[in-house]
Amino acid sequence: MKVIKIYLKRLSKLLIFCLFSIMVIISIGLLLPLTNFSAGQTYQTLVINNVSIIDVINGTTIPNQNILIQDNYIKKISTVPLITNKNAVVIDGSNQFVMPGLWDMHTHFMHHSPELHFPLLIAHGVTHVREMGFGSPAEVSPDESILMSLKDRDQWRSQISNQKLIGPYISTSAVYQIEEFGDIWDNEDQIPPFETILKVFTKLEKSGVDFIKITLENNPPKEFFYDIMTAANQVGLNVVGHKPRKVSAIEASNLGMKSFEHARFIIYESSSLRDTYLNGSFKGKGTQDEIYSEMINSYQPRLAENTFKAFKGNDTWYCPTHITRRWEARYDDEAYINDERLKYVPYLLRTLWNIDAFMLGRKESSKVSNDFYKLGLTITKQAHEVGIGLLAGSDSPDPYSFHGSALWDELLEFDKAKIASKDILKIATIDSAQFSNQQTQFGSVEENKIADLLLLTKNPLDSIKNIESLETVIVHQQIFAQKDFTIMKNYVAEIATSWAFTSAQVWLTIKSFF
Ligand SMILES: [Zn+2]
Repeated sequence: MKVIKIYLKRLSKLLIFCLFSIMVIISIGLLLPLTNFSAGQTYQTLVINNVSIIDVINGTTIPNQNILIQDNYIKKISTVPLITNKNAVVIDGSNQFVMPGLWDMHTHFMHHSPELHFPLLIAHGVTHVREMGFGSPAEVSPDESILMSLKDRDQWRSQISNQKLIGPYISTSAVYQIEEFGDIWDNEDQIPPFETILKVFTKLEKSGVDFIKITLENNPPKEFFYDIMTAANQVGLNVVGHKPRKVSAIEASNLGMKSFEHARFIIYESSSLRDTYLNGSFKGKGTQDEIYSEMINSYQPRLAENTFKAFKGNDTWYCPTHITRRWEARYDDEAYINDERLKYVPYLLRTLWNIDAFMLGRKESSKVSNDFYKLGLTITKQAHEVGIGLLAGSDSPDPYSFHGSALWDELLEFDKAKIASKDILKIATIDSAQFSNQQTQFGSVEENKIADLLLLTKNPLDSIKNIESLETVIVHQQIFAQKDFTIMKNYVAEIATSWAFTSAQVWLTIKSFF
């Protein structure tokens, strides 16, 4: 007994010493300055001569065009050379193609996104994002948290438009996990009364939330979903997110859900066993592989088609995020998990990804996961054939989804789904702008639109893979060339693994929990 006591005493001393050491390491790290970078060239007047315009609306190339840009707007497009003042910046567009900036329609930001994610987005021509939220309503305005707050978002938006920060248009942003209501409803198990939901939504709308994202992970009764839809409708907020398990996709679409995220929910919805799933008794009926293979074997193309027909009638959109399932299918592929882009991912997040991989618990590549992911591609093709609005989203920073380049990955998934390159381009530009109700300003290369442009050396209409030939990004009255991409990528790689930054992240994470 005495021996145990001595050991316990020694152990507690050791623990205190370890904790103290960690705190000292973090504290020293916090004192170290974070690095900074400068990239890009600002302009007032910009002329792009003799360039081929990619008309994303009609899927055609218009050669030999001259474009005059002034104060962030496309002022004139002409076949005749445009005369400007001597201070104008001139780009020779010969042998180049110009297209609108790309939209990542499902991504998540964090407090450190300006350092970790924004440079990567711009370096890959992703100039717009639909930010899908991270926090619960309690995080609408936290003073300091590892999560993005609305305060962060508003500050970034203004800094980006004033060229004080390099980053994309945060076109719309959400509040996430609305159903948890942890700090708003005392009892998470209880459905809040309608008046309370309405009060919360009114507050959110006033705080500048653009839409509500639901996941309904606790699988609440369907009445809760009905109340959410009614309240959101009353305050004028769209609802997007995961398909509620107890309500069919058709019913949720009929009630006005604006977009459905992730292919897996539509796969479940297209199974002859979906009633079991809708009744909420599906979870716990086996391992993930077993559930997946049941879903694959019971897949009915007709059910998917019916769902998409309802989506079309209701103007409901679908954002499949294929790469989130691809990860599951390939996480034990050495080449895949040793992706060279890991250098852009901070240690803390990498640890979370490893935990996710560990939780999957499979040693060999799962054929079932691969088939499940591929079924997602088949269903996207079906959705496209029915003619519903599709959105390309990366779901970064989900495992192996790297901000910026993950959107390119997702576009290649649409290619694997046998969707024509011209249609993929349309999805990632003008269609996304239309979904966001910003098509009069963005989404195509046209006079009077905002100059949000990419220059490529290969035609993306020939193959969507040609997006990789990105040469120049023009956004927020700044021009970013290849050398700037290198600076921005190197900056992220440096900061992601730096002592100072890791300490700042650890410290914020600790603060987020207290
Ligand atoms: Zn997400």
